[in-house]
Amino acid sequence: MGRKKKSILVNPEREVCALCGSQTDLEWHHVMHGTANRQIADKYGLALWLCHSCHEELHSSKETIWRDIDKGLMAYAQRKFEEKYDHAKWMQLFMKNYEFTREAALWKYI
Ligand SMILES: [Zn+2]
Ligand SMILES: [Zn+2]
Repeated sequence: MGRKKKSILVNPEREVCALCGSQTDLEWHHVMHGTANRQIADKYGLALWLCHSCHEELHSSKETIWRDIDKGLMAYAQRKFEEKYDHAKWMQLFMKNYEFTREAALWKYI
């Protein structure tokens, strides 16, 4: 699937949707939104596989559940990042603290 993927969240060679476990129509999702954050996410490996349908919902759905699932992933990414680097570096890059949501547990395939 294109050039080498980098992730500190999952093994990129294990191609499954991090949410539903599907192995088809996978797309590479950057955890942090916005152009600048996307580049930082790329550099530090804050990215994972999502199937097309989960990916679409995560980016487009206005439903609270999907917003919370998205935030849950950011909280998860922050924790993994801080295990590897530290809290100060996270704040320097993203300037925001992400609290765990109950929905973080829905990321079953991380
Ligand atoms: Zn999925
Ligand atoms: Zn995405």
